[in-house]
Amino acid sequence: MSDIVYENEAAILSFSYEEVVKALERHIIENEVEDDSKLLNWLKKCSGQGEKVIRLKEDKKRPEYLNRIIYLLSDLLSDKMGKFFCKECRLNIPPAQIRVEKTTPFDFQKGMNKTTMKEIQKELGLKSPLRMSGSGGTQFTCPQSHLLLSTID
Ligand SMILES: [Zn+2]
Repeated sequence: MSDIVYENEAAILSFSYEEVVKALERHIIENEVEDDSKLLNWLKKCSGQGEKVIRLKEDKKRPEYLNRIIYLLSDLLSDKMGKFFCKECRLNIPPAQIRVEKTTPFDFQKGMNKTTMKEIQKELGLKSPLRMSGSGGTQFTCPQSHLLLSTID
């Protein structure tokens, strides 16, 4: 079985194809989200049913269903699966050493500058200032506190 590799500016994450597909199938049964099914079909097709390595780069312009993979990978990482390479440390980080932090909506908002907030506001077509409601997100950092991946829940 091959791997699924996801790369962003700070890190390279790799997971076994089997782990990802299993987790995704579980998700589909539990939540019945249409985009999850699309993602699963895409993964199966691109990997030739798990024969070829899939390499994904961070890309906000991708269809929404493909970007859902970040949440899936984040779930797997929370379960201590997958491999992390920190570009700054130039080291592979064992899952047990990765720090997982839950952030509150307030922390998230604090970390963003005003321009970003305005852009999101515009994109969503909101008239009032952006307010983060609901839960926050999850951040994954290496032992040297380099931010490797963050998700908004
Ligand atoms: Zn690092």
